[in-house]
Amino acid sequence: MNQDHGYREAMSGRDSSPAIMWFRQDLRLADNPALLASAAGGRPVVCLYVLDEAGEGDWPAGGASRWWLHMSLAALAESLERLGQRLVLRRGPALAALREVVSETGAGAVVWNRRYEPAAATRDARVKAELKAAGVAAESFNAALLFEPWTIRTGGGGPYKVFTPFWRACLGAPAPPAPLAPPASIAAPPAWPAGEALDDWRLLPRAPDWAGGLRRAWTPGEAGAQARLQRFLSEGLEGYAAARDRPDLPATSRLSPHLHFGEIGPRQVFAAVQALGAGSPGAEKFLQELGWREFCHHLLFHFPALPAANFRAEFDAFPWADDPAGLDAWRRGRTGYPIVDAGMAELWTTGWMHNRVRMIAASFLIKHLLIDWRQGEAWFWDTLVDADLANNAASWQWVAGGGADAAPYFRIFNPVAQGEKFDPNGTYVRRWVPELARLPAAWLHKPWDAPAAVLAGAGVRLGTDYPRPIVDHAKARKRALDAFAAMKDRPGAA
Ligand code: FAD
Repeated sequence: MNQDHGYREAMSGRDSSPAIMWFRQDLRLADNPALLASAAGGRPVVCLYVLDEAGEGDWPAGGASRWWLHMSLAALAESLERLGQRLVLRRGPALAALREVVSETGAGAVVWNRRYEPAAATRDARVKAELKAAGVAAESFNAALLFEPWTIRTGGGGPYKVFTPFWRACLGAPAPPAPLAPPASIAAPPAWPAGEALDDWRLLPRAPDWAGGLRRAWTPGEAGAQARLQRFLSEGLEGYAAARDRPDLPATSRLSPHLHFGEIGPRQVFAAVQALGAGSPGAEKFLQELGWREFCHHLLFHFPALPAANFRAEFDAFPWADDPAGLDAWRRGRTGYPIVDAGMAELWTTGWMHNRVRMIAASFLIKHLLIDWRQGEAWFWDTLVDADLANNAASWQWVAGGGADAAPYFRIFNPVAQGEKFDPNGTYVRRWVPELARLPAAWLHKPWDAPAAVLAGAGVRLGTDYPRPIVDHAKARKRALDAFAAMKDRPGAA
């Protein structure tokens, strides 16, 4: 594929009418091949963002993502203004909005960076065909992935379903091209098309304004993404392999929302990590996590039903429980298992949850409560600032055991043992479940076992200040294994 990004050739020799740069999940100036293509040769550029909720199919942005989008668009608009540019905002459908802006500005070309979610990809293919049919040049580029999904194939020519050989094949493929510098200048069009006001899109929560924790935790936008990366390179990368599973330590990059919205691209992260630590255990492990991101996108591209249907059809027969009270307790972080509840509180407050705790909390919903993974997927979709169709769907399927390359269903996390192993001093639980903050570490992950005097000394009244466990681990484990066995035993099951 485009080892040199292809942006120079794409727009060379074209007319001097404006080009429309259609921003989507690439809200940055650096390493943005579509933006460079639009501006090539000093051509005037109309920078456009279209809010196209219908174009997202069954997955319009959730609440936390809408907050992030607002902040990120505001940051991008500011960066563009510093270049004498503007970010024009229009409401979708995308094709109608693009046609209008083409006709208002006389633009001869529309360029964008590709998306891989099924609904967006289908829409974009139609947009491209319609624009071309109307005589408008339309070009798309890769800004979101190291390796495009159709370039990595098994020996038999099909897609990969297992991570390890997938990542091996990626590392054996031509290396991703070096990241591109931001444009030094972008010519303005002779006249600006009208745009809408960002505030009018009402992406921010108002009544109530629940975004205080998000504001404290994050700086959306390209500068915030770069600051995160630099901080991780100097403070986190070296110890990443050893500490990445510890939610009590600031050991991971927290780049996920920035990557999702394209405020930073994976080529930039890949190059920076390689330049600093190529071959070190921290760098290898970290690049492998970027590899998981690639793998999830590969899966979603080749198996577009991934967000809604069990990857392994035998799981269609799984006897999920109808348990609204259990689902509610899980969402609100009131399960009585401190590590689960801490994770759900972190999620609710900051829009992010540590990966290890995501696995524990997801496993608890699916295996301890027997609730369909799609209910958890939907809650994460609404509450995560990094909600990403590929990563979220593939990860939930992975935890459920029905996904490609999944954790086996019978591997059931013990939330107490997981808490004791990965939050050994209880720092994480104390932070997110302050009701338990004064309990000694020995009891923190199983307060129901603590002697009455210890509970009293820590000011904890179980069942009043903090819930008793809503399910017993041993019983829940047996119930899950029985359900799995029942599914396996069904006539016709694989
Ligand atoms: P780091 O450890 O610093 O990793 C660097 C980057 O690699 C991340 O920013 C992310 O882009 C990618 N990455 C890391 N782990 C994974 C993984 N397991 N799968 C895919 N990509 C990965 N990640 C999302 O970005 N969006 C989601 O909606 C999402 N939903 C998840 C749901 C469940 C049930 C689980 C178990 C995991 C989910 N993840 C999701 C994956 C992972 O938890 C996050 O990417 C990670 O915690 C983000 O933190 P970080 O940026 O500090 O990660």
